Order: sequence, then structure tokens, then C-alpha cells
Amino acid sequence: MPRRRRSLATSAEATSPVRGIARRRGPPEVRPRTIPRMRDEAGWLEVGDRVYTRRYRFYDQQIGVVVGDGEALVIDTRSSPGQARELIADIGRLTPFPVRQVVDTHWHYDHLFGNHDFRPATIWGHERCRSRLLENGERQRAWVAETEPALAAALESLVIDPPDRTFDPATTVEVGGRRVELAYLGRGHTDADVIVVVPDAAILFAGDLLENDAVPYFGDAYPLEWPATVGWLLDLVSGPVVPGHGSIGDRAFVERQLADFDAVAAVARRLHTGELDRAAALAAMPYDPSSSIEPLDRALAQLRGELD
Ligand SMILES: [Zn+2]
Repeated sequence: MPRRRRSLATSAEATSPVRGIARRRGPPEVRPRTIPRMRDEAGWLEVGDRVYTRRYRFYDQQIGVVVGDGEALVIDTRSSPGQARELIADIGRLTPFPVRQVVDTHWHYDHLFGNHDFRPATIWGHERCRSRLLENGERQRAWVAETEPALAAALESLVIDPPDRTFDPATTVEVGGRRVELAYLGRGHTDADVIVVVPDAAILFAGDLLENDAVPYFGDAYPLEWPATVGWLLDLVSGPVVPGHGSIGDRAFVERQLADFDAVAAVARRLHTGELDRAAALAAMPYDPSSSIEPLDRALAQLRGELD
């Protein structure tokens, strides 16, 4: 484990961005070695007691559902009203209980353009999730219509509907007698990523702070801060970790992603100081060269003070 992580851990009590969440430092034997596989006939994977995920082909996205007594909470609402209605129908095959609460993990359209179809549910998000969506929602709609023709028609009827219950940095919600914790751990994939922890099932939903089976998206990222944010997340892992896209992971998956994020920041710093030229920097990145340009340039922009 890199030295930086140890120093974060030793200063955790004083500086944790999420004092409201009990830090979990269980012994190694409580860490699962394999991810549970328990699929029911409705196509949902039960990753913990009444905590489900469904993996959609579009963007290889993971959607989460937490079921309590008499109600359910949904984590992210997909990319369009049509996709949201499909999700609602899929949830209806999973539980008879109504979805009374939604969590938007961040303001990217594929995580919340389905919000409006879940009303009158309460929609939770970081306060910048709301403000950014209000500021850039129409821009996102136009961009999606142009780049994803399959969604263009569906987005004509889209009502951009941001979270109405915001928080910073953390809050606790109750879902039919179950406690669910929401926390912003710092900038990373965006400036408003929140994680969702279900303590009684030891499940952590990471949003797009973690993506599996593909290079994470850096277009709105803060690559210099992403490693520390995932470092805090790692401290909260006590079971399966559900990324925003791709396969469900575990602690080792988070550690691998953290090593990659550390490498991105380190390479960018070496390029910024002139220790590496651009070709050498691209070759030293943890991703393939064509996927490394955006992360590197975004990190450079941060080093130049252009993103603050
Ligand atoms: Zn995203």
C-alpha cells in the first residue's frame, strides 16, 4: 500500500470528509474473496440482503435498488424517460413496494435523465449535482441528441428534474426501516460524486468514481484529487462494491483502480515538470495511449490551475 494511503488513514479521525459514516476497518477475513452470485428470475442480482443490481447493456450501466419494509430506493435513473420506464417495469418485477426515494450519484445524464418518471419520489443528490444539472442540463440534452441518435427522439419529451433533497457532504436516509448512507468524499469523476452505503448489507455503490471493464471517463474529472477520494472510499469498503458501469468488484478492484488513478496523477506531474515528454508520458499511463489523452490533459489542466 503506498505511503500516501497510510498517512491518510492515520489522520482519518481529524480530517475525514464523512464523519457521519462509521469507518470500517474489519479484519481481512470479513472481506469477501468472491462476489456473490444470486440471480432471481427477474434479472436482478441480489448482492446483499434485499440490495439488488441490474446491469443494462446501454453503457454497461449498473443500477441499484435497496428494498426496505414497504418501500424501495433506487440508485440512478438511466439516460432517458424511456429507459426510466423500462427500469420502473423491471423494479416492478422485483418488488411490489413503491420507489419512494432516488439517489443521483452525480450529474451526468446517464445517471439522472430518468428522474422525472420516478416522481413523486424524493430525489437525493449532492448540492452541486442539482446546481450543475440546472446549469448544464440543456447542454447535455443537446449533446446526447447529437451523439446518441437512438436517444434523440426520446429526449424531446425529457423533463430535466434535478434532485430536490441535496446535502454536503453526507446524510443518512431511511428506507423502510433500513439505514442508507450517502456521502460526498471529494472531487474525482466529477465535482459532485456521491457514494451510497448500505451498512446492514455491507454494500457500497460507488457511482462513476469507479468503473469496471473499461477506462473510466475523465471528461469532467479532477485527476489530481481522484486518488484521495477513492482512498476515502476504500476505507468504507466492507463487501461488494458496485461501480457505475461494468462488473461488480471488491476491495482488490478498488485498490487496482486507486493504483491507476495514482499513476495518472503521477505521470501528469512528471510531464508538467518536464521530467517526461508527452510521448513518454502517454506511454507511462496505465491506460492504452488513445484512452490516455483525455486523463492526461485533464490532469495537466488541473496542474495549470485551469479547473478551479
Ligand atoms: Zn459519469
